[in-house]
Amino acid sequence: MLSEAPAAFHLLSKPTGAQCNLDCDYCFFLSKELLYPDSRFRMTDDTLELYLRQLIEAHWRVPEVTIAWQGGEPTLMGLDFFRRSVEIAQRHLRPGQRALHTIQTNGTKLDAEWAAFFKEHGFLVGISIDGPREIHDAYRTTRGGRGSFDQVMRGLDALRAAEVDWNALTTVHAANAGRGREVYRFVRDDCGARFVQFIPIIERVPDAEANGTVPWSSWRDRPLYVQEGNAVTARSIDGEGYGRFLIDVFEEWVRRDVGEVYVQMFDVALANWYGEPPGLCVHCETCGDALALEHNGDLYSCDHFVEPDHLLGNIAEHDLIDLVASPRQRRFGLDKRETLPQYCLDCDVRFACHGGCPKDRFISTPDGEDGLNYLCAGYKLFFHHVDEPMRIMCDLLRQGRAPSEIARRYAARDAEP
Ligand code: SF4
Ligand code: SF4
Repeated sequence: MLSEAPAAFHLLSKPTGAQCNLDCDYCFFLSKELLYPDSRFRMTDDTLELYLRQLIEAHWRVPEVTIAWQGGEPTLMGLDFFRRSVEIAQRHLRPGQRALHTIQTNGTKLDAEWAAFFKEHGFLVGISIDGPREIHDAYRTTRGGRGSFDQVMRGLDALRAAEVDWNALTTVHAANAGRGREVYRFVRDDCGARFVQFIPIIERVPDAEANGTVPWSSWRDRPLYVQEGNAVTARSIDGEGYGRFLIDVFEEWVRRDVGEVYVQMFDVALANWYGEPPGLCVHCETCGDALALEHNGDLYSCDHFVEPDHLLGNIAEHDLIDLVASPRQRRFGLDKRETLPQYCLDCDVRFACHGGCPKDRFISTPDGEDGLNYLCAGYKLFFHHVDEPMRIMCDLLRQGRAPSEIARRYAARDAEP
């Protein structure tokens, strides 16, 4: 079975399960508490040790292991938990092997002590910022329903003061649709971000009317969110809106920020145009190497499929590498390519898109085949829009020149009468 195991894989670990101090309206992950009704939602030291040992052993063929924390809100574990995790990892690393520590947080609990710890151990911190106050506070709210903007900015200030490596995770949804450039300028200029990821909010529900706007943590009789249903909530972005948002950002970025600001989607596109692995499962041909670990050691196929049908097993009963290499998980990853509808197989930008994430494939193609990505219209818009500049940047790269030279061509074009 080990021959099927990837040399490296990505695993998001959730030490507090779905528990969070915020109550963001669009966060369907909050409903995953329902999977563990009697739990205290705290990863035990035994599970922490077991997990890190197995993770590091599974990466025996590569020099670097990524140890990624996410939630829920992982900082609710307290700083000592992460101090222990660094110590345990250090103990298990082989000579010459190193750990890359990452954490995804809402930022509200961060202060100078956290920041100093992150800096000392080289953590890469992802912090969720949806845009200027009015946009950020539209959905990213406290349990009392107040906006979290000020708390997040305080946390970010602490990271910046300690010069911690950080990136912005910015969701794209109904409240910032049509405002790509404004949102991008805010995270770049006001926040100082040099790494930005845009993540489309798509909340699938069986009936958009009934389930349109309620939050997932306090919804009476809330269901467990699973990847089912062909409708979306009112908060969700639509395909075309997502494409236009990305184009709006791209038009700003390509004129002044190439090589200065890393926007994940643009880097992924450039890699696919250049013929290199894009580094983001959504736009890879196959997936299955980005799994999720719950606080009790349960391993799921993907962070977006933390649901009973995609539970691979518990690492206390099966070694992590065996679960990652299992035929079931390999099949999960291959299905991304093998279940594409004919419409995608015939698509001229399939090399860049690869049909997007399977979780979003719930609409029908124009000729009625199931399994088309809900964002397809946006992907087509965006990938067609960037075709020419991507070719130009690839040519520059092949000539050993900097892709940022493209800005001059845009400046010349913009100056034309
Ligand atoms: S299901 Fe989607 S998010 Fe999960 S690994 Fe595959 S492409 Fe990535
Ligand atoms: S753009 Fe649409 S048709 Fe083309 S590969 Fe992507 S999802 Fe499929």
